[in-house]
Amino acid sequence: VASEFDLIARYFSRPAPAGMLGVGDDCALFAPDPGMQVATSTDLLIEGRHFLAGTEPRALGHKALAVNLSDLAAMGARPRACLLGLAIPRPDEAWLEGFAEGFHALADIHGCPLIGGDTTRSDHGIAISVTVFGDVAAGQALRRDAGRPGDDLWVSGALGAAHLALELMLAGRADDARLAAVRDAMERPEPRVALGQALAGLAHAAIDISDGLLQDLGHILDASACGARLHYAALPVHEALRGLPRDRIVRAALGGGDAYELCFSAAPADRERVLEQARRAGTPVSRVGQLVPREQGVSVLDEAGKPLDALPGGFDHFRSGS
Ligand code: ADP
Ligand code: MG
Repeated sequence: VASEFDLIARYFSRPAPAGMLGVGDDCALFAPDPGMQVATSTDLLIEGRHFLAGTEPRALGHKALAVNLSDLAAMGARPRACLLGLAIPRPDEAWLEGFAEGFHALADIHGCPLIGGDTTRSDHGIAISVTVFGDVAAGQALRRDAGRPGDDLWVSGALGAAHLALELMLAGRADDARLAAVRDAMERPEPRVALGQALAGLAHAAIDISDGLLQDLGHILDASACGARLHYAALPVHEALRGLPRDRIVRAALGGGDAYELCFSAAPADRERVLEQARRAGTPVSRVGQLVPREQGVSVLDEAGKPLDALPGGFDHFRSGS
C-alpha cells in the first residue's frame, strides 16, 4: 500500500512555476507583484452535502477547483496558485488519479498551479478543501459593497442549467434527453475567470452565483444598501429550459444554485465598455435590470411590467416597504 507521501508525490506534486516554491516543504512561497492586492478564498466540499456520493472523480477534481476560481472571478482577480486539503476514507488510486487529472487540467487552463496542501484519512466520506490565491490591481477588485442605485445589473452566460440537471438526477431521470444538454453545467462548471478580470476596475459590485441569482444578488444588495428591479424577459434562461412551465423556469433561473455565472453591476454610461470587455473575454453577458434605492426592495417584472409574485427562496415581496 502506498504511503501518504507516495500518493502526494504521485498525484499532487507538480513542478512549481519559476519564482515559486511548490509542494515538498513546510510552506509554499510566492511573491505578489508590485501594486497588486492578493485575493484569497477557501471552499469546503463535503460528500453528501455538496456533491453526490459516487460523483465521477475527474468531475469532482474539476469542480473543487472551479468553485474557488469562480470566487476569484467574482473579485476580478487573476489566479496565481492554490492549495488542496483532502480527506479520503481509503487511498483509492483510481479515484486519486481521476481527481488529480480533473484538478490539474483546470489549474493548467487558468494558470493556477497546486503548490501545497494536506492529505489525511477520513472516517466520514470525502472532504475537499481548496484555497486559491489570486491578484488584482490595488483598488480595482469587484466588491459586493460597490453597487449604486442606477447601476445596470448584468448576468453572464445562461441560468438554470445546473438546477435542471440536479432535478433530473435526483428524480432518477438519467435517461431524460435534456440531461445531456445540462449535465456538464452541474458537473463541470466553467468559472468566468477571463470575464472577471476584464471587468476589474470597470464594473462596480460583483458576485458569483452559487446559491441562486436572487439569493446571491441579495448579498450585493445588503452590502451596497440597494434594491433591485429585474426584467423576467431579459434573463438569460438556458435553452434546455425552453418550453417548461413558467414557474419552473422562474425557480431554475432565479433560484437555481451552482450556476457559477457572474452577476455584476456597472454604470449605464459604461454599457458599451462592458459589452466590449465581455466580447474580449469570450463570455456572453445580458443586461437583466437595475439597482434601485433600497426602499424599493426587490422586484422581478414580467413582459407587461407587472411584478411576479411568487419568487423562489422566500423572496416574495422581498423587503419591499420595510
Ligand atoms: P506537513 O507535515 O508539514 O503538513 P505534509 O507531510 O502534510 O507536511 O505534506 C508534505 C508536503 O506535501 C507539503 O509541501 C504539503 O504542502 C504537500 N501536500 C500534502 N498534501 C497535499 C495535497 N493534497 N495537495 C498538494 N500538496 C500536498
Ligand atoms: Mg500536513
